[in-house]
Amino acid sequence: RFEVSQPWLARVVSRSPRRVLRAVEDISFKVERGTTFSIVGESGCGKSTLARMVVGLQRPTEGSLRFADITRADGTIGPPRVQMIFQDPYASLNPRWRVGDIIAEPIRELKLRKDEGETIARVGDLLEIVGLSRGDALRFPHEFSGGQRQRISIARALATEADFLVCDEPTSALDVSVQAQILNLMVRLQKEFGLTYLFISHNLSVVRHMSDHLAIMYLGRFVESGPAEEVFNHPRHPYTRLLLDTIPDVEKPNRERRPMSGEVPSPIAPPPGCAFHPRCAMAGDICRSERPILREVAETQLACHFG
Ligand code: SF4
Repeated sequence: RFEVSQPWLARVVSRSPRRVLRAVEDISFKVERGTTFSIVGESGCGKSTLARMVVGLQRPTEGSLRFADITRADGTIGPPRVQMIFQDPYASLNPRWRVGDIIAEPIRELKLRKDEGETIARVGDLLEIVGLSRGDALRFPHEFSGGQRQRISIARALATEADFLVCDEPTSALDVSVQAQILNLMVRLQKEFGLTYLFISHNLSVVRHMSDHLAIMYLGRFVESGPAEEVFNHPRHPYTRLLLDTIPDVEKPNRERRPMSGEVPSPIAPPPGCAFHPRCAMAGDICRSERPILREVAETQLACHFG
């Protein structure tokens, strides 16, 4: 199923009239199969809106969202199957259903197995794949810890045989020690099943070790994107540098960490010119009047007049 390695394209374009909230605007990105594309930004930057649009939970007010068709291993051609893993594993699982039924629901709905016996066997396999046991199918969500519930959410997403998983802050509701376990599980599943992730986070240190490509989002737009290594090692946008300054560096434990100052401006009344100029130490006159366009710089794309 995941043998095809051709690139595919997700395009999200949303344009809104003036004075209307512009949560996401003029965004397009390409994700290679079997890789992770991460979108990072502070809360209110539009990344969760973008995630909801990609899975079809929210429609652009104007414009459109398009997926390029992919060719599957069985030869069929069509848009990728997309599923979402939500931030809050407490709210995203039906508390009245047994775990087995939660995972079996999409299998039954999409008729992915020929009978109930095969469905139950598949549910057991999925529970084991995510590190739980077959017997857990009979238990209810409240009997599990937060990390275990997120494992159940992942099993449910895998049950749909999705090509593309949109993960909206999948570890931010979990204890730090459990976060690493879930991230490691996601990396292992990606290698095993060739999964493709769109990973949404406010935390650069969380995405650091699992991203192939990365986009930094500010007030509804990408301000820098490119291969993760390049963005981490040679950040060009002042906002990316500020975000990186806020995270601990194990190789330089004594490095001074500057906290992020100021708030993300309201998307209803964005600042003129570069939206980041009220918080940018490098801002010049042009930044207050002219919006920088995303352009190619070396291996990355950058929206800054001085980058
Ligand atoms: Fe700062 Fe100007 Fe670049 Fe915006 S365009 S990030 S204000 S230097």
